[in-house]
Amino acid sequence: MNKVLKQRYEDIRNRVDSLNADCNLIVVSKGQTIEDIQTLYNCGARSFGESYFDDWEKKVGKLPDDIDWHFIGPMQSRKAKKHKSLLAKSGLIQSVDRSSLLPILDTLGTPVSNLVQVNLWGETQKGGKPANELLSFLEEIKNFENIKCLGLMAIPPYSDDREVTAGHFSQVRELYSSLKEEYSFSELSIGMSSDFEDAIRSGATMVRVGSAIFGGRA
Ligand SMILES: *Cc1c(COP(=O)(O)O)cnc(C)c1O
Repeated sequence: MNKVLKQRYEDIRNRVDSLNADCNLIVVSKGQTIEDIQTLYNCGARSFGESYFDDWEKKVGKLPDDIDWHFIGPMQSRKAKKHKSLLAKSGLIQSVDRSSLLPILDTLGTPVSNLVQVNLWGETQKGGKPANELLSFLEEIKNFENIKCLGLMAIPPYSDDREVTAGHFSQVRELYSSLKEEYSFSELSIGMSSDFEDAIRSGATMVRVGSAIFGGRA
């Protein structure tokens, strides 16, 4: 049992709970060992986030069945197609950002929940739908019976200026709020290790925290 890991997890869990006990803490386990993930499971963590299919595939069968796996990584349709059985095990696919994924997700053999990843800052190296394409994409998703869109996910540009970060979060939050009723949204996924508390203050319903819990990754 890794006591330092347990301690860091409990500290983050408490910080999340003290701001919003309903906020879902997604433990980002990409690049981490099965032992460490099992340790956090034993501490009560159930939601884990993975970014790479091959890495995730190696872990899935060796960890408890009731883990709520979130896929949060870049999604190319070629790889998604190859890993359909893995995607079918995901409780929430957070990083959906292109039309070519929709027929794949619709035919996993099980209904699937997703978030649309948005990119409001024009950072082309990161995934995500720009704001001007979001509405037509949300309409398109409605055509797929087995895909339920629960809300938005975003990875704003990194800044060490908290006000700048908070500004990015409120931009996403405003977009989310403007669509919430019409699309029955319930989830806004923003905030990582360096800024999850500001994200919760800005209205995050889930935060994705990796290195602040694990202390780094391979
Ligand atoms: C890796 C990753 C995280 C976690 O990042 P940390 O800074 O380690 O907390 C969160 N979200 C996404 C999409 C990631 O790829």
